[in-house]
Amino acid sequence: MKIIHIAAECAPVAKEGGLADVIQGLSRELLLQGHQVKIFLPFYDSLHKEYFDSLEPQKKSFEIIEDGISYEAYSCFAKVAGCELILLDADHPEEYFHRKSIYGFKDDVARFLFFSKLVLEYLTVQKQNIDILHLHDWHTAICPLLYEHIYKDRGLDIGKTVLTIHNLEHQGKGVPDDLTKIGLDGQQLSHEDYLRDPDPAHPHRINLLKAGIMTADSITTVSPSYAQEILTPEYGFYLDPTLRSYRGKITGIINGIDNQIWNPRADKMIPFFYSSHDSAEVITEQKRANKHFLQKKLDMAKSDLPLFVCITRLVPQKGPELIEAALLHVINEGGQFVLLGSSPIHQIQHRFELIEKKFRSNSSLKMIFDYNEKISHLIFAAADFLVMPSIFEPCGLSQLIALSYGTIPIVRKTGGLKDTVFDISTSDPLKNGFVFADPTAEDTTEAIDRAFGLYSLPEEIQGYRKKAMKTDYSWKTSARDYLQIYSD
Ligand code: ADP
Repeated sequence: MKIIHIAAECAPVAKEGGLADVIQGLSRELLLQGHQVKIFLPFYDSLHKEYFDSLEPQKKSFEIIEDGISYEAYSCFAKVAGCELILLDADHPEEYFHRKSIYGFKDDVARFLFFSKLVLEYLTVQKQNIDILHLHDWHTAICPLLYEHIYKDRGLDIGKTVLTIHNLEHQGKGVPDDLTKIGLDGQQLSHEDYLRDPDPAHPHRINLLKAGIMTADSITTVSPSYAQEILTPEYGFYLDPTLRSYRGKITGIINGIDNQIWNPRADKMIPFFYSSHDSAEVITEQKRANKHFLQKKLDMAKSDLPLFVCITRLVPQKGPELIEAALLHVINEGGQFVLLGSSPIHQIQHRFELIEKKFRSNSSLKMIFDYNEKISHLIFAAADFLVMPSIFEPCGLSQLIALSYGTIPIVRKTGGLKDTVFDISTSDPLKNGFVFADPTAEDTTEAIDRAFGLYSLPEEIQGYRKKAMKTDYSWKTSARDYLQIYSD
């Protein structure tokens, strides 16, 4: 099949979160299974160019019209981790992609509408026929509508459109003029139900994710549990009535992880390698060596105390209050804690900075307020337990990465966490971690106490480390599930 992914992120060159890992990991697996796959991405200034296998020079390719004005558009081919990328840009006075980061600007809706149009224009000019146009999140959810209203008549031939919702919280809310700019009839379309934002606080806004949900041929989301949860008001962010009407075309497919990037047997970012073929004792010894290496690197006390870690964006979705409760409890109970992550929200960031200041002389706690891919590998390898108390979690990759590094996850029972982590106290044959139900400090710390308990039983925890590493978290099965949706 000829499959096109259109997305705002792709690991490792343009990554803010799990979306980037999915685009890269799924694309490579589809490629390995014999399909033609291309990823379209904006040519951001913030691309990590050092990670490209190859990057050709940009060339003038076509003209693009926005708001009646024609701009020169550029394309270039690149390769990353075996996948083919096409990077698009244009000589636009707003310099849509020439910013210091991927998101966070007040014209984000206009930026990604423009990008969506760039891609469809490119495909039309190149006369490329496509079996599957796979769109991701609100950023490119307008494509099915653009195709129906403009590009179908211009000869573009697309077999099927698929929209994956990676996180329902972000929906792309704009004004009708944003649509008019890219050649749609914004005023008329904004009266159509499929573009009207259901949030009563924004009755005059358009909602791009809603448009995608109503117009794409198939919808997927990133875990079976999240596919159910988003149908409820609790998790639906006002889109639950729309999603319930279209439940027949929604499927939940769990994400995989790319085991070329996340593989403790050959991970260049960790000093001591280990694999699921090693004995449980060797795995434990190598993890301990990585732990001592990390402690030294971070100026922490060298010790064999249980090491709890948290690698996350510190946003409300991830339960920052629960992370704080976990961290203080671990320190109180005589463990070690490493937090890697920062917050775009001032109050949350400030709160964690205060804790860091208070405990600065405590060598059992280290907080790294940064996004740092390299050190994240070492932390996953060194840790005993990963703490992930999310309020909601569409899939979650960190718990899968942790498991594949023999690190036991402690998670709240929600979304993809519920589908991948099974409590050690149950009789579930898949049991592999600690799961708690309520988003409260009590439930979080109770799960942490149970983790301390497991740590005091060396043979048991060794067995769980090896078991975690033996499970297959690769993209193989999930890619087959996507292929099933593509060919239905
Ligand atoms: P989300 O996409 O909601 O942020 P996921 O668990 O799906 O959460 O994916 C997060 C990805 O980003 C994982 O690969 C995780 O290791 C990585 N990550 C999160 N925060 C950091 C950080 N501060 N430094 C390095 N990597 C991080």
